[in-house]
Amino acid sequence: MSERTQKGLPTMLLRGLFRRCAHCGGRGAFFTGWFARADRCKTCGFKWQRDLVGFQLGAAAMNIIMTGGAVLFSMGLGVILTYPEVPTWPLIAIVGSVALLVGIGGFPMSYTVWLAVDVRMHPLEPEELADAAAHANAKTQAH
Ligand SMILES: [Zn+2]
Repeated sequence: MSERTQKGLPTMLLRGLFRRCAHCGGRGAFFTGWFARADRCKTCGFKWQRDLVGFQLGAAAMNIIMTGGAVLFSMGLGVILTYPEVPTWPLIAIVGSVALLVGIGGFPMSYTVWLAVDVRMHPLEPEELADAAAHANAKTQAH
């Protein structure tokens, strides 16, 4: 057996939702700003772009799913709360705001949540773990 210790999918998804690294749970994962990304996790040194085709596409799909879910939820809630006299234009304005807020505000989370799915489907290889550890060690020695 390998020495890979990996958390379960719920833990990793939760980490992703809070913009943490799916692998180590480090705060902020590989984000240096809300939109700015570094090559590696700030905590464990894990290189998140893993030469697997389609990671960006998966993150974009995750953003669409999160935004679409928030739009459906807010629209449904608005209709349920105001039925039978649903205020169409105010509701459209609110749902539009939710879409912008989740679509833009959820940008880093779409990456970290997708990373959780990605790491779950393709657990870190021993080389990746060694590479991450080497990078994390180099970083701690530099400071
Ligand atoms: Zn990490």
